Amino acid sequence: MHAGLSRLQCGAILPDKTANAVMSANSSEDSNALDPLTRVRIVLVEPSHPGNIGASARAMKAMGLSDLALVKPREFPAAAATARASGADDILVHAKCYDSLQSAIAACGIVIGTTARERHLEWPVVTPREMAEWLAPRAAQEECALVFGREQAGLSNAEMALCHRMVRIPTSADFSSLNLAQAVQICAYELRNAVVVSPATGARVDEPLATTAELAAALDHLQSVMIKVDFFNPERPRLLPIRLQRLLNRSELKRSEVQILRGFLTAIEETLADH
Ligand code: SAH
Repeated sequence: MHAGLSRLQCGAILPDKTANAVMSANSSEDSNALDPLTRVRIVLVEPSHPGNIGASARAMKAMGLSDLALVKPREFPAAAATARASGADDILVHAKCYDSLQSAIAACGIVIGTTARERHLEWPVVTPREMAEWLAPRAAQEECALVFGREQAGLSNAEMALCHRMVRIPTSADFSSLNLAQAVQICAYELRNAVVVSPATGARVDEPLATTAELAAALDHLQSVMIKVDFFNPERPRLLPIRLQRLLNRSELKRSEVQILRGFLTAIEETLADH
C-alpha cells in the first residue's frame, strides 16, 4: 500500500525524472552546487486555497526548487493558483497529485515535516536553518521531501509519524501560524542558502538510505513478527506502531541495514515455522 502506485497526474503528464530534467534544462542558473535543490520535493497536504499553491510555486521557483507534489488539493488546476504563481506556472504544470502522503513520499529517503505548533515533543524539532544545514549535504544524494500541512489543521499525527524531523519556524509566542506559502518560502530560502553557502562536499554517505516505502514494509514485517511471538496484540495496539515508526524514521537507516533487519525477521519466522 505504500508504493507510489496511486499517483494521479494533475499537471502535465510527465514521469518524475522527465519533469526534473526539463526543470534543470530550463534553469540557466542550475549548476552542480545547486543540484541538491532539484532533489527536494515540496509536498503540500490537502491545500484548500489554490492561491496558496500558486504562491508556493512562486516561492519555490525563486529559490531554485522545482518539484511540487500535492496531496488531494481541494481545487487544482485553478486560475487562482496560476495567478498567484506570477510566472512560476511551469512548476504548476509539472506538479503531481497524489491521494495520500505515503504515496507522495514513497521514493524519498528523507522526509521533513513542518509544524506551527510547539507541542510535538516526540519529534526532533529544528529551525529552518538547522534543517537546511542537515538536509543540504544529504539532498546531494537522496530524494528528499519537505512536507507542509493543511491551512486549517496542519499535519495529522499519523502524517508526522512519517517524517524524520520536524521544522518549526520560530515566531512570536502568541501567534505561531504563518501563511502556508510563506512557510514554504522561509524553508526554501534556508535550503538554498545552505546549498549555495556550503555546497555538498563533505558528509557524503556511502550507501543510499532506505526509502519511506522500504521503511513502511520493514515496519509491517516487524509488526507481523511481533504478533507471531505474542509481543504485540493488534487488537490493543496502543502507541506501539507509531513509536516503532518514529524509531525507524529517526534512525536514518541505510537500505542494507533494513535488509539485515528483514533477514533477521525472516529467520525468526522460519524458526517459528519449524517448531
Ligand atoms: N492551525 C494549523 C496551522 C497550519 S498553517 C496548525 O496548528 O498546525 C499551514 C502550514 O503552514 C502548517 O501545517 C505548516 O506546514 C506551515 N507553517 C505555518 N506556520 C509555521 C511555523 N511557524 N513553522 C513551520 N511551519 C509552519
